[in-house]
Amino acid sequence: MTIEAELQTSYSVSLRCLANSRQYIREMASPDSCKQCGFVWSAIAAREIPDRLRSATQSFVAVLRRAGDQATMRPTDERWSILEYGAHLRDVLISIRERIIAASIQDQPTGSPLYRDERVSLGFYQLDTSAQVADELDAMSNLFVRTFESVPPGFERREFTYSPVTPTKVTILWAGAQALHECEHHLGDVRENLKLLNTE
Ligand SMILES: [Zn+2]
Repeated sequence: MTIEAELQTSYSVSLRCLANSRQYIREMASPDSCKQCGFVWSAIAAREIPDRLRSATQSFVAVLRRAGDQATMRPTDERWSILEYGAHLRDVLISIRERIIAASIQDQPTGSPLYRDERVSLGFYQLDTSAQVADELDAMSNLFVRTFESVPPGFERREFTYSPVTPTKVTILWAGAQALHECEHHLGDVRENLKLLNTE
């Protein structure tokens, strides 16, 4: 393949990824249920978030650990690898945790965007290994849950703007539910990756 053809291919793959991602962000921003996994944000009570989130990340870590070489494979151009989904999920938990803390302190802040695709396309995950991401995801999941359980009583109703990219007004409780959604949704993604990789 010539360099031009290679660039063209990688450019169109990036555009397709971006289109998928924009669609995902739009769907996420429009309450109240995820068209892909059926998650309903308003149906989530704060007390159920810790156990469900831990359980989803433990299952995710198990997939990551047993995927072996398949962890770095993209089954189709539109999908990330299991490792990339894992690194994304780790960063999501870091990012939402920061938004929850900021919204507990400031009135109506705007959360920092995650720049989900740029982190992948600029190569910020290129040195991550499955073992590292599994450990970090496990640690971030525990840290997120401890933080969420430490939110002062009544603060779960405090509002903030999710990000300049997704300028939806949300509450701290919604953000906790969104963290859970990300864990459960992407657990579905990596299970799907394994299925796709093993039926080729
Ligand atoms: Zn979903």
